[in-house]
Amino acid sequence: MGQDRVGSETVGGVTAALEKEKAGLTPAMRQYFAAKEQHPDCLMFCRIGDFYELFYEDAILVARELQLTLTSRDREKKQPMCGVPYHAAEVYLQRLLRKGYRIALCEQMEDPKTTKTVVRREVTRVLTPGTAIDPALGADQSNYLASVAVKGSGAGACVGLALLDLSTGEFRATKFDGVGAWAAFVDEVGRVRPVELVYASGLLGGGAGGMLPTLRDGAAKDGAPEGSGDLGDGESAGGLDAIRTKTAVEEWVFTADYAMPLLRNHLRVHSLDGMGMGGHETAAVAAGALLHYMQKTKQGGLEHVDGVRYYERSTCLELDAVSVRNLELVEPLFSGESVQTTLFHTLDACCTPMGKRLLRATLLRPANGLAEIEARLEAVGEARADLRRREELRRSMEGVLDLERLLGRVALDSAGPREVMALAATLGCLPGVREAVGAFSAARWRELGAVHSVPPALRDGAAKDGAPGVSDHASAAGAGFDALEDLHGLIARTIAEEPPVSLADGGVIRAGVDAELDELRELSRSGRQALVAIEERERQRTGIGSLKVRFNSVFGYYLEVTKANAKAVPADYERKQTLVNAERFTTPELKEYETKILTAQERSGEIERRLFGELRQELLRAAGRMRQTARRVAEIDMLACFADLAALRGWVRPEVEESGALEFVAARHPVVERRLEESGGGRFVPNSVALDADAGPAVMLITGPNMGGKSTYLRQAALLVVMAQCGCFVPAERMRLGLVDRIYTRIGASDNVARGRSTFMVEMTETAAILNTATNRSLVLLDEMGRGTATYDGLSLAWATVEHLHDRIGARTLFATHYHELTLLAEKLARLKNLRVTVKETPHGIVFLHTLEAGPASKSYGIEVARLAGLPGAVIARAREVLKLHERAETQQVREATVAHEPKLQMTMFTPLSQRIVDRLSELDVDEMTPREALNLLAELQRELKG
Ligand code: ADP
Ligand code: MG
Repeated sequence: MGQDRVGSETVGGVTAALEKEKAGLTPAMRQYFAAKEQHPDCLMFCRIGDFYELFYEDAILVARELQLTLTSRDREKKQPMCGVPYHAAEVYLQRLLRKGYRIALCEQMEDPKTTKTVVRREVTRVLTPGTAIDPALGADQSNYLASVAVKGSGAGACVGLALLDLSTGEFRATKFDGVGAWAAFVDEVGRVRPVELVYASGLLGGGAGGMLPTLRDGAAKDGAPEGSGDLGDGESAGGLDAIRTKTAVEEWVFTADYAMPLLRNHLRVHSLDGMGMGGHETAAVAAGALLHYMQKTKQGGLEHVDGVRYYERSTCLELDAVSVRNLELVEPLFSGESVQTTLFHTLDACCTPMGKRLLRATLLRPANGLAEIEARLEAVGEARADLRRREELRRSMEGVLDLERLLGRVALDSAGPREVMALAATLGCLPGVREAVGAFSAARWRELGAVHSVPPALRDGAAKDGAPGVSDHASAAGAGFDALEDLHGLIARTIAEEPPVSLADGGVIRAGVDAELDELRELSRSGRQALVAIEERERQRTGIGSLKVRFNSVFGYYLEVTKANAKAVPADYERKQTLVNAERFTTPELKEYETKILTAQERSGEIERRLFGELRQELLRAAGRMRQTARRVAEIDMLACFADLAALRGWVRPEVEESGALEFVAARHPVVERRLEESGGGRFVPNSVALDADAGPAVMLITGPNMGGKSTYLRQAALLVVMAQCGCFVPAERMRLGLVDRIYTRIGASDNVARGRSTFMVEMTETAAILNTATNRSLVLLDEMGRGTATYDGLSLAWATVEHLHDRIGARTLFATHYHELTLLAEKLARLKNLRVTVKETPHGIVFLHTLEAGPASKSYGIEVARLAGLPGAVIARAREVLKLHERAETQQVREATVAHEPKLQMTMFTPLSQRIVDRLSELDVDEMTPREALNLLAELQRELKG
């Protein structure tokens, strides 16, 4: 782990005091320093009595982050400390983890009551954002820990990436090759958004790392890692920067010799080939190193991580990180905005948390193969058409809780009896789900709902007597829907119907499971009955009507008598305790029962714990099967959700094919339409698109006033493609789609100023990525490109970009622009077509119709829009005058430029004369000129300026 101490947080005097104090340390503090030395990158939470205490820099930092009071251990106030109560620690720990900190828990290893000397303390757990489970984690969110391994450089470079979501046990890995490997890695990380990244020390450059949440200010940059500078420039915005916690691990961990055997041992396989990892060594190394880190921080609780899956980005419709953000697929563009703007929110009608997570993941990785998409659409179509069976299917999933997360909690030993019962309730729903799926006949439904045959021996596998228990035969489970009836039975047989919250309360295990347990319970029950009898008898004997037999955890059982009655107490009572109003006594007989009852309770507690532990082990052995089933349910849920949306909202099945077409008729933007409906803001005006990369037109140039609906139109096209390739029906009368391999969405610089860095630079970097990687099967959306620089620069760049897309790439392109000059391109580029958003001019100003029609916009209506926005009338009037002057001048210039430079029409048209003069001046070699030549030139330039 990170070797660097945090230097930056040293507060005056603390360090000096620390050095001085180390000499004469108390034993407890010596333990503290020893622990801190082992975990220098962690905040050290040191258990002292009922508190976790923090000291020195840790205390200062935590007090600030959590708004706690800073105290000190000594009178001179040189040893800052602060603490949180042990019982309430969870909340504080989670808050620190969410801020990206690492935490070590230094626990008391002995019972302070039983030790005479100082209690031994040790670090028992290290919590980090990626290795601790946040209970507040939303059901549809994932909490990924990532690990990166790098091999080679340049064309031979290979970057491996492994991702683990501990809350569900999802574990997958991939790799990227060649010159663009690092950029591809950064991009993938930007999409997945892990909370923590593990890397080999030295990879991201040395420098500050350690406990601080980020390496942002350190030497580490998002570009190529140190020592592999030729991996190519990463397109970094939102990539590594967004990961708050980056943890360095010793370099040797990332070697094949160490990491691969570790991975194989953990997964208990001889070869990784079966998981698709064969030939992907770097991916396997990243996965192995990740496990190493988990083992180092957690000690156990990894049973549910029982497989790693190799995945490939190119099997899906590729969406780079920038497009995912711009299209607001799963998160709003600006953090803090309502999630209602996301496509995920609009589409999410899933019944189960697994379904929600799958939907989210699918939106980020839509399918790219015709067969897969057709299979999904077919299934959705069938369920859409049959209300009754669709409702039955969805109702069957209503009681299904988060199978994967419950399993995760069982594995991490944080599941109590109630969680296990919740698991059982969920398992109990599964046969119903399978049956409901079985009512459909589309091929995909048949695959998903096929009855899975469990060998009879395993079916009633009681987990006792060494008989074959519930075992993991995940490999065979691919064949059908494993409804896990055996596990359901096992839990139902073992756990009481309404168990208490905590195992310690007793009564968790059902009667009849264990003979000894039943006997002990009977014993303590009859013991308690005997006590009632004693109470009655003693009242009679002493004549004290208010005499009571009571219990507390310190004194055990006792007889309580009020002060007033104390005189009447017989001689054989032994005084135990005197209170203000009462006296407490015991008798030999009472003591005897007490021992009996307490021993029986203690013993039965032990047995319950053991049986519960055994049950947990049985469940974990079947982890793989549960996850298989969870995946199946997730897919069923998602397809049923698509069917439901299609039926409720009247969406249609897209016609998907292998071609360059993109055509839709009367289509709507799903999110904007929904929001307009909900806010009563009017009706969404449907519109159409007809693009064809092969037959043309391939490029649409869209002009028209601000607020006319250009951006909405662009995004709508992309969203419909994403939906269709996910297997979802679409909001349109008709849609024909030739498969898209990648979608690129770029928004002109000034639309997203919130991102640091020169926004124009960002825009150009993004545009470069498109021009370098798009194919003629891609969909490119450019919105207001070139806005972040001077008009003429921007226009020229936009112009050249359109030409390049049209001539060289041939991608389907929608290009929204405020540069009217670009519409002239239609005369030159055969496969480019102009579209304009329509407005109606009325005596009271303009009205946006939100429809599109062929042709270039005749004017920009900027002043009209400004009027609508409420600019003062005088300003509007003056702006109109100024505009007239400018228009006249520009027409003049364009005319002249066109005459003078016919062949270079498009460039000179908007190059001002002064630019030519500047160019000539900068080309001059002044040293070579005679004074005479200089004067002549001056005169010439002046003539030209005057025209
Ligand atoms: P532009 O990019 O041309 O400035 P936008 O796409 O940002 O315009 O749209 C401006 C506003 O018009 C948005 O609030 C949007 O909700 C609304 N809008 C856009 N298209 C439509 C449509 N087809 N029907 C109804 N409202 C629309
Ligand atoms: Mg816009």
